[in-house]
Formats: sequence, C-alpha cells, structure tokens
Amino acid sequence: MAKKANSSNHCSFCGRSEQEVNLLISGMTGYICDMCAEQAHEIVNDTFKSNAKTDPGISLLTLPKPKQIKEFLDQYVIKQDSAKRFLSVSVYNHYKRILQKNVKDEVEIEKSNIIMVGATGTGKTLLARTIAKMLHVPFTIVDATVLTEAGYVGEDIESILTRLLQVADYDVNAAERGIVFIDEIDKIARKSDNPSITRDVSGEGVQQGLLKLLEGSVVNVPPQGGRKHPEQRMIAINTKNILFICGGAFDGIEKKIAQRLNTRVVGYAASSEMANIDRNNMLKYITPLDLKSFGLIPEIIGRLPILTYLEPLDRDALLRILVEPKNSIVKQYQKLFEMDGVTLTFDQGAFEYIVDKAIEFKLGARGLRSIVEAIMIDAMFTLPSEDNKKLHVTRDYAIHQLENSDLHHLRVA
Ligand code: ADP
Repeated sequence: MAKKANSSNHCSFCGRSEQEVNLLISGMTGYICDMCAEQAHEIVNDTFKSNAKTDPGISLLTLPKPKQIKEFLDQYVIKQDSAKRFLSVSVYNHYKRILQKNVKDEVEIEKSNIIMVGATGTGKTLLARTIAKMLHVPFTIVDATVLTEAGYVGEDIESILTRLLQVADYDVNAAERGIVFIDEIDKIARKSDNPSITRDVSGEGVQQGLLKLLEGSVVNVPPQGGRKHPEQRMIAINTKNILFICGGAFDGIEKKIAQRLNTRVVGYAASSEMANIDRNNMLKYITPLDLKSFGLIPEIIGRLPILTYLEPLDRDALLRILVEPKNSIVKQYQKLFEMDGVTLTFDQGAFEYIVDKAIEFKLGARGLRSIVEAIMIDAMFTLPSEDNKKLHVTRDYAIHQLENSDLHHLRVA
C-alpha cells in the first residue's frame, strides 16, 4: 500500500522534490506527487471514456433479437404490430451490419432505411423514442419541416448530422453508426406529381439534399450547427452506416391508395377483391407507388426500402393506452399522488368517459393527457395539504371536473 514519503525524496514522474509539492506518495520503487497522481487519474478516465464511446458494447451474442426488441416496444406502445416488427428487424440488422464491419467479409450488408406512414398521434414518434431507450448507438429525432435547401431561411440538411454528432459527444465513429428519426417527411413532398420547372424551396430541393445523406456519402458537418459560426471547422461524417427512420402522416394518401386499388381491380375479379378490403385502414395497402404519387421523388423512395404503416387507434386502443403502457398516463398520475402518500384509483366508467371525450374532441391519443390533467387539477392542488389519503375517480367525478374546466369549451370548436 502506498504511503506518505520521507523528506528529500523526488516525484519519479516530474522530478519535483517533496518541498515543492503538497503531497508525495511512495510506491515500491519510487514516488508520485499529488499533481502527477491527478494527471494520471485524468489520463485513465479519458482513455476509458473514449473506449466506451467507440465500443458499441454489443456482440452478436448479447444483441437483442427482433422478438426481444418487439417485446420491449410492446411494453410502451399499444397495437402497431406491423410497424413494430419492421422496426425490430431493421434495428437488429443495423447492429449486425455494424458488427460485420469488424470482420473481413465479401458480402456487404446494405442498410435498410425505414419509412413509417400513419395518421398523426398514432405512435410514430413514440416508437422511435422507445427504440432509442434500448439502443447502444447515438439516436436523434429531427423534424423535416424545418429543413430547407442551403441558402434559404431554415436549417440546412447537414444540421441533422450536427445533432447526431452532438448526442454522440462529438465522437465521429459513434455518430457514423447512429440512428436518425426524421419526422414529418411528408411535409417535404413535391406539391404536384409533375417535376416542377420552378424551384421548389421546401420540397424537391430538400429531398435531393436528403438523398445525399440516405445514399451514404461523406458530408461536411458544422459541429456547432447553423450558420451563426462561419469560422467553425467542419467535421467530415460518412453516412453510409447511419440508419434513417422516416415518419409521416401523408394526409390524403388513402384516396390515392383507393384510386389505385379501384383501377387495379377493374374487371371480373373486382367485386370479390374489393369486398375483402379493410376500408377503415387503407394504409395497410400502401406501396412505394403511392408515396410517389404523393410527391416523394423516386430516388428517395428507393433509399427507403422498408415501408410500413400505423393503424388508426380505435376506442379500445385508446382505453388500453390510458392504462396499459409501462409509463401510461394513469400510472404517471398514480405515481405523482403516491409521492404525497395518496392512493389514486379510477372506475372503468371514468376511463371510458375520458376516452369518449378524446374521440369527441378529435384529439386522439394525444388528447388523453390533457383531459386527465383537467380532471385531476383540483385534486392535485388541494390533496397535498389535506389529511385525506385516498382519491377514487368515478365517472361522475370526471364529468363534473371536466365540465368545470376550460378544456370543456373545446367541444364547440
Ligand atoms: P405521431 O404518430 O404523430 O408521431 P406520437 O407518437 O407523438 O404520434 O403520439 C402522441 C402521444 O400519444 C404519445 O406521446 C403517446 O402518449 C400517445 N400514443 C400514440 N400512439 C400510441 C400507441 N400506439 N401506444 C401508446 N401510446 C400512444
């Protein structure tokens, strides 16, 4: 065990004598002063930190299998089995591709970027966020609506990579195998199916820029982002192994799908084929062709080979969303009350009322939270300073609270 050294000894690292330092610690054959010990500590820390960043911390053995990834998603996201399966497989393959890089192999696995189509509030972002929870690679969510072609007001396409670089703590190696979720990809669709003659600032130009990233190329990225720091040194990032997951509502695409199905089934087989179509969920039948007629350029579609859809959420799904997920809205409120020692319970009738209101207000899953908040606000205000340690929310209580809240006025909207 190291101990304090005697006088007239020197640090074996910097040579300072005991009088010149605060502390000199003796080892078996030499000494180390407090300053050198601190420096050594920093070197050790830095080395392990950078190793941790470049090592994805996974191997083929420890890699979660697609089924396990889906089971994880099931804990947080209700329904959406098709999207969950595609996502699980893509993320699993993404890891395999990263791991393959370490082995010399002739068969190079190409990445399979994903596009998820589904109405707003059906869980696209939630799926992406949940996947991020279990990932060992940098992950970021960007909104396509803020992207513009270089030179226009808005964010340059490269800003996507700036974000990834930032979450990777500026470790280029780690960023180069990250995952990017691009939300609202439908908002950069071309305004009409015909290639426009005039420049389309928010549409095709952005798609062309995005294409460069999706294809895999070396892109110069401003590490601080934006154009506010013209002096910053660019960092080159290769996007070849970055997985892109895109999501969009594609409002009105159902009509295009229906049109295509109608024209395809004209003929004597028409009646039987059309009879089997689930008209409440036309997105089920989406093909890359529909994305093209919506206004995505064929090159982009080609780079998003995995196309999947999200189902509309019906009453039953909304009821499940309220209580089932691991961090469901109800569980969150119960936790909040529990911290004040209050037990919070609900009647099934109260749940049904909340869901029916979300449907009536046309708020979908997104509205559930604000409705519950409006119902709970009085109790959250008064209970912490009262002796009453129980709250049971009945249907009548829920009706009374909501009808006396501002949210109630949404009905007329
Ligand atoms: P979008 O499809 O527009 O990206 P989000 O994922 O942002 O929708 O969903 C909004 C909110 O609604 C989520 O934060 C979540 O609370 C809830 N939600 C939506 N879909 C689901 C689902 N399938 N399962 C559980 N919660 C959901």
